[in-house]
Amino acid sequence: MWWALAAAVELAVPAECAGCGEWGVALCGPCRRLLRARPTDVTDGVPLLDAPGGRVLTVWSSAAYSGAVRRMVIDWKTGRRGHLRAELVAAGRAAGRRLGAELGPDLLVMPAPSGPARRRQGLLVAAELARGVAAGIAGGRTGGSGTQGSASARMVDLLRRAGGPRRQRGASARTRAVNRSDPPVLVRPLRPGTRVLLVDDVVTTGATLAACATAVRRAGGVVVGAFAIAATAAPGTA
Ligand SMILES: [Zn+2]
Repeated sequence: MWWALAAAVELAVPAECAGCGEWGVALCGPCRRLLRARPTDVTDGVPLLDAPGGRVLTVWSSAAYSGAVRRMVIDWKTGRRGHLRAELVAAGRAAGRRLGAELGPDLLVMPAPSGPARRRQGLLVAAELARGVAAGIAGGRTGGSGTQGSASARMVDLLRRAGGPRRQRGASARTRAVNRSDPPVLVRPLRPGTRVLLVDDVVTTGATLAACATAVRRAGGVVVGAFAIAATAAPGTA
């Protein structure tokens, strides 16, 4: 039974920092500061967003997706360390406060879509992050469930993968893989000219954000940019 007890103790009191492994703290100060760093424009390192004919959109990120940050993001996305959810919402809020000064008010903060499996598990990480970003832009206030932030910046979870749960059920692994690459769609149109900031957990090639931007534009919105907590380094820049 010792292992069950050890697991219970670990859940109650994380034994080591989720980022660097320092003993005795759930998250140490330096690792927390990595997540809350000032967002910078990383578009130049994202191949599909920095197109030769001009930027598809501008993406800001707080951290490089490596080392401690990578470990924290993976544990957050898998739900292994529950306390990271609040840390990532706080990191989003810190980013939102800084981005808000640049972007101005009156915008929707829209997370990249989570797949059906994540929705069932309640691991909507991009939506959690977006909720923090919206609250930060709105001045740190948080509203009720569903829409967070003041009227000037709200989180709205409208993007879905076009495949959807109905098509996923009973589908072969191959079909599911195809569905995952289906372009996202909005579940309802936007008021024409609605300003939208996209949010995702990690930006790599920019394929997801570019597809989300296309969906928002088709629905009548204007994409003001995107935020991801972490960005992978472009080949050749690492
Ligand atoms: Zn640490």
